[in-house]
Amino acid sequence: MMQLYTPLHFFGTYYRMIQQNFIDMEKMFDLFEVEESVKDIEDAKELQVTKGHVQFDHVSFSYDNRQTALNNISFTIPKGATVALVGPSGGGKSTILRLLFRFYDPDSGRILIDGQDISRVTQASLRKAIGVVPQDTVLFNDTILYNIRYGDVNASDEDVYRAAKAAQIHDKILSFPDGYNTKVGERGLRLSGGEKQRVAIARTILKNPPIILLDEATSALDTTTERHIQGALADMTKDRTTLVIAHRLSTIVNADLILVVKDGKVAEVGSHDELIMNALARKNEGIYYEMWQKQLDDHPDSSQVTSGVATP
Ligand code: ADP
Ligand code: MG
Repeated sequence: MMQLYTPLHFFGTYYRMIQQNFIDMEKMFDLFEVEESVKDIEDAKELQVTKGHVQFDHVSFSYDNRQTALNNISFTIPKGATVALVGPSGGGKSTILRLLFRFYDPDSGRILIDGQDISRVTQASLRKAIGVVPQDTVLFNDTILYNIRYGDVNASDEDVYRAAKAAQIHDKILSFPDGYNTKVGERGLRLSGGEKQRVAIARTILKNPPIILLDEATSALDTTTERHIQGALADMTKDRTTLVIAHRLSTIVNADLILVVKDGKVAEVGSHDELIMNALARKNEGIYYEMWQKQLDDHPDSSQVTSGVATP
């Protein structure tokens, strides 16, 4: 059981932290006896995921009823596709993921998974279907075993080891003083950003959800860690509908679809090649094209991930 010795008035902060980091802890809400910002409708049904097809249908949303975070957004993600959300900071990328996880309900429009409006299904069934790898993973003050098993509390030790291997963190764990029984978190062994992300990947592999939300780390990881994570991520997202807030050039180039999100709208949509071709046809005009040029300038060694389209 989680240990929380936090005074009640800190809950506001915690709630925001939960929403920022996608910790879905109904237990925590119960513990603090506060109301969640969304509620199950009276006769809410279980979400039935057959394909993992995600659709935003004219979705608008504002956090404070003044500034619009999402402005009439529509897009469709085919089953199993990987969609990269890119665009300037504050454009609405994280908000899209938070709405799909139903931390908030849209002010208008609908979000559908396999044709079912997510505001009409139980939150428990929705969140069971979605795995989240946040930018900054929160670890519980418990063993590394417990922290990975959080993805599926019924998983056997063997299952946990298998997930850790797939997430490329098993060997690392064996090198810890007490192996899988090593205490981690604030009061235990502190893990690096890359290690924490691999814990989140292991949790998600255990959870085995049909839909994955991924917020890539902005900070540059060292190349070995980066390579380890790339492999783990590729395995995890294979055949699963994946929405990723993408910072890595390799993710962006290889995505099935790129949504350029700006000012709460989908400003451009297409594959990498399509977006670049369109820009070239418009005398190099395009948000994505400009971002891509800038990324190439910032990462001159990224020629290894360039696609078929020639970039000057
Ligand atoms: P991105 O992920 O693309 O950087 P966000 O989805 O985080 O963008 O933010 C979209 C807009 O919503 C921004 O104007 C941002 O300031 C606002 N916003 C984000 N989170 C909150 C929040 N918790 N409360 C109020 N406004 C928020
Ligand atoms: Mg964000």
